[in-house]
Amino acid sequence: MLPMRKIIAEMAGYVPGFQPNESGWIKLNTNENPYPPSPKVAEAILAEVAGDGANLRKYPDAGSKEARRAAAELYGVDPSWVIMANGSDELLNNLIRAFAGEGEEIAYIHPSYSYYLTLANIQGARVRTFGLTDELQIADFPARYEGKLFFLTSPNAPLGFRFTNSYIAEIATRCAGVLVVDEAYVDFADHNAMDLVKEHENVVITRTFSKSYALAGMRLGLAVARPEVIQALDKIRDHYHLDRLALVAATAALKDQDYLQMTVNRVRETRDWFCSELRKIGYRIEPSHTNFVFAEPPDRCGQRVYDGLYARKILVRYFSDPLLKHGLRISMGTREEMETTLAAMVEIG
Ligand SMILES: *Cc1c(COP(=O)(O)O)cnc(C)c1O
Repeated sequence: MLPMRKIIAEMAGYVPGFQPNESGWIKLNTNENPYPPSPKVAEAILAEVAGDGANLRKYPDAGSKEARRAAAELYGVDPSWVIMANGSDELLNNLIRAFAGEGEEIAYIHPSYSYYLTLANIQGARVRTFGLTDELQIADFPARYEGKLFFLTSPNAPLGFRFTNSYIAEIATRCAGVLVVDEAYVDFADHNAMDLVKEHENVVITRTFSKSYALAGMRLGLAVARPEVIQALDKIRDHYHLDRLALVAATAALKDQDYLQMTVNRVRETRDWFCSELRKIGYRIEPSHTNFVFAEPPDRCGQRVYDGLYARKILVRYFSDPLLKHGLRISMGTREEMETTLAAMVEIG
């Protein structure tokens, strides 16, 4: 027997959303953006590999200074408050490594992003989950939560609702450890919690380029937090975690906010139209602040509608979890893709 850590040998491992190989699918299962990224991104990448690609001989900037500067300018903070990452998943991982030692506790809400569990297991941290009340507040959250980290996904995935900033601020004051606000979807919402970083020393905000910026394939994320948190995350990460192409892509995407707003607005319009159409055929939908909706069919049988859509080569996300099996998470595609999906759902009934 190899001397593998017991925890690794026994853990299941995270299962990402299905990526079909053949074309012909309408793919609404992993919350990717249906539109391409800003054209400035491809321009920047092509410039980086211009000529014979000789730039690639050299290591990238280990401090991702330009990208951090662009993000800092956008969010109105000093660059020392920003770190870039190889997907926001890298940040979630390194936050656990920075703050929760083996046997120490982290927490998150169930349902939310199940990858927190995988990352905590790898670290050997203990995990506690909190449920939601009918009013979509955290059930039984203690007056003082002593865990090392609390991951608050806002807007929530897979349900799509968000917490108000005053509620998040209250949770921050009740956390003895760090409150990580995972804002993967916040560009699709009307409000974000960025100001809370300045007001509460234990708040960390994480963002991803995978959804609103349409760069899931580049693997980019960022966090905003106090410099002492950023410095800790900088010590833990691989020093060349972002390659040259990812770095120029990040900077170009951050600097093209007009394009971001244009595509985000399109997705939001499609989402609001799709929700109102589904409600007309008897679906129950929690108002969504994201680029997906959690839709409950009248008979509350998510699997049945999933199968009907699958048979028509439309891929959505079904969760067998008892709290989620009555519905489906459907990512927003183009208006045309959603019209096809709606017609299929009317047919399936
Ligand atoms: C997609 C997602 C992430 C991961 O983002 P990457 O930048 O692609 O690693 C993190 N948190 C939530 C809630 C997500 O939905």
